[in-house]
Amino acid sequence: MNMDSMMGDVAEVLIPGAEIEEKVRDLGERITKDYWGEKLLLVGILRGAVVVMSDLMRNINLPCELDFMDISSYGSGTSSSGVVRILKDLEENISGRHVLIIEDIIDTGLTLSYLVRSLKQRDPASLEICSLLSKPSRRRARLDVKYLGFEVPDEFVVGYGLDYAGSYRNLPDICILKKEIISDA
Ligand code: 5GP
Repeated sequence: MNMDSMMGDVAEVLIPGAEIEEKVRDLGERITKDYWGEKLLLVGILRGAVVVMSDLMRNINLPCELDFMDISSYGSGTSSSGVVRILKDLEENISGRHVLIIEDIIDTGLTLSYLVRSLKQRDPASLEICSLLSKPSRRRARLDVKYLGFEVPDEFVVGYGLDYAGSYRNLPDICILKKEIISDA
């Protein structure tokens, strides 16, 4: 599937790549200011956060390291299973470290609230969340998201790291797919 055929499946571009780039730059500046003098550990949630993480880290003017976790939330469909499982844990010991979780989108918040609870038990010096997108109307768990890119409506979005059934992650914009593409929405 090439870029043209992927864009053919798109009903609407919700956030163009240039706007995302600007927002990620702002977030990087805020993070740099807030953690000035410290060393950061960025924890990306696989696989959707990979794109925003790679852009964001180049806008953070501090020493920082990366680690990743993989957590099951959704299958290949578009609705939450409510099942949260750690599929891949961190390689790093986070005790005494400043940890910033990087997420692509927070929907119900169930996945991240579970993760935050579990990581807090490992005694990090600090633990905050940065998410590119949030769907506030869908929230079921209370979460403090210190760094947020954009609020989006209750639509299933793809692109800039976000997938549908594994595809569309490399679209440069955040897009809404045509209804007929999402078979089980
Ligand atoms: P939550 O536990 O907050 O309901 O689920 C968060 C996860 O659900 C995200 O990391 C993402 O994998 C997936 N998700 C939620 N909404 C969307 C969406 O609109 N598009 C895509 N591609 N994934 C979503």
